[in-house]
Amino acid sequence: MPDQNKPSVLIVEDDGTIQALLVAVLGGEWEVRAANTGEAALRQAAERAPDIILLDIGLPDLDGLEVCRRLKANPRLEQVPVVFLTARTSGEDEIDGLQAGGIDYIMKPINPAVLKARIRNHLELKQNRDELVRLARTDGLTSLYNRRTFDDLLQREWRRLARTGEPLAVLMMDVDHFKLYNDNYGHGGGDVCLQRVARAAIGALQRPADVVARYGGEEFVALLPETKFEGAMAVAEAIRAAVASLEIPHTASKTAPYVTVSVGAACTIPLPDKDPASLLELADQQLYAAKSEGRNRAKGVNEGG
Ligand SMILES: [Mg+2]
Repeated sequence: MPDQNKPSVLIVEDDGTIQALLVAVLGGEWEVRAANTGEAALRQAAERAPDIILLDIGLPDLDGLEVCRRLKANPRLEQVPVVFLTARTSGEDEIDGLQAGGIDYIMKPINPAVLKARIRNHLELKQNRDELVRLARTDGLTSLYNRRTFDDLLQREWRRLARTGEPLAVLMMDVDHFKLYNDNYGHGGGDVCLQRVARAAIGALQRPADVVARYGGEEFVALLPETKFEGAMAVAEAIRAAVASLEIPHTASKTAPYVTVSVGAACTIPLPDKDPASLLELADQQLYAAKSEGRNRAKGVNEGG
């Protein structure tokens, strides 16, 4: 079983003696996996992304530089730091390695203390970078993705599904009478309410690819890739029901004695030339309709999904 608390190092080295040495030296401090070939390294990295990769340049199948280029071309692995290991000594190799996307370059024979110190540094830098990325992508109050991340994901899924011809659905939702809630329970109370609504919405999602984000204020959005209209309406209704069943008291609400949400859904098959914002616009119109028809309900429109 991999130790989830230890950072993991993928060692790619075809020389058995050196590989065994690296495993022994690094195994005490990190979770270590090893590969003998470039193809095996790519496969193992894709199965589960390591936190850092030590990559020999001279491998029996793919050149280490090529392995690095392929890792950097994979959006899921491009952020993993690659440290090259090589016995070669020319400065040109070093430049090749760094141009291929390597972060560092370590010459054989390996000095274990130096190697460990360098790995520690790179892991620490990566941790800091990951944390900055996380902060930039999430909403501080609810820990959901923020609007910018949602817009990025929407663009990406729109392009992907325009290629595959599969439907994309979005939901826009809004806490009913939230201004009255804040007036009545204070902004601290409002914050707790939004956190609970966010968790309920996440819990109502049905697939790993589905995403809920905070769009702003008391507004949330969901992205449901490869979801047909009926499926989108089922998720919309599940979110509505999940929030209602929390029964968060809301004595000032004109809809119910507890907190409710209204949800607008829209589903389409993306077209490459069309702006994905048009789908959000449709969902927003449905949200508006749900509000004007009495709130605490989901309404949707199907544009061909
Ligand atoms: Mg080698």
